[in-house]
Amino acid sequence: MLFFFGSRSSKIKKRKIRKTYCPNCETKDSFLVSTFGKYFHFFWIPIIPLFKTHVAECSHCKISYSKFQFTPEMNAALQKENDINPVKRPIWHGCGCIILVSFFAVVLSISFYGVYQRANNPEASNVEKDPRKKLLANDLDKLSSILLKSKDSVSIALKQCVTYDIESGIDTKKIEYFSKVNEDKILVLLRIKDLKNISAKERKVIIDIVEDCLKVIPYHNHIQKQYIGVEGKWNTVLVKTPTDSDLGGRFADKNKLLSFYDKTKIPLDSLK
Ligand SMILES: [Zn+2]
Repeated sequence: MLFFFGSRSSKIKKRKIRKTYCPNCETKDSFLVSTFGKYFHFFWIPIIPLFKTHVAECSHCKISYSKFQFTPEMNAALQKENDINPVKRPIWHGCGCIILVSFFAVVLSISFYGVYQRANNPEASNVEKDPRKKLLANDLDKLSSILLKSKDSVSIALKQCVTYDIESGIDTKKIEYFSKVNEDKILVLLRIKDLKNISAKERKVIIDIVEDCLKVIPYHNHIQKQYIGVEGKWNTVLVKTPTDSDLGGRFADKNKLLSFYDKTKIPLDSLK
């Protein structure tokens, strides 16, 4: 039967012991004592060093004696030899233990480092857990080029205005829109997949157009704060909010739009 854990031993020293006689052949000083170190192994990796055992062999008659068969004279000779020349275990008998301790030390250091980082930068971890991200992702999913007056009349008015104002090179029929009102705030999202004809620097004009258009939409009267996000083919390219903006035209941080949503009023069913 094969065991994946248990004890094994290896020879760690071989010494002559003096002032002894072999009980069998009575030869003087004929003993060679081998010392074995036992260790606990797991999958043959030594984990913890255990006890030591000794076996004496007579070099004349070749008879072996286990430690419990030693004569008092042999025990004394071995003790004397141990005092003069002690047996040291090889370090690998406990290498598994060293590996495990090092492994846990590394894991602990990494977790402590993470806790320390979070303690110093609570905002970063809060953003990770921010449920408003899910709300924004849901709203981005609703972007569409097919607009229904009953559902999103702001987007319909906006589409008419943007189509009229936006420069050539963009297929305005394919622009997707979504808008949502939250008390005195409005979120306006656009997705323009063929932005490549407009250089990154000039893309912020799209925000100006949207802002100008929002001014003339009658529905917009009671709204004070605008949150505008423009998606490109792959990612958010422009963001403007009442307090922040990302208008470089290539990569914008869509999380800046999160302040549109009220943290305290997140409906649980919207997070599913
Ligand atoms: Zn002998």
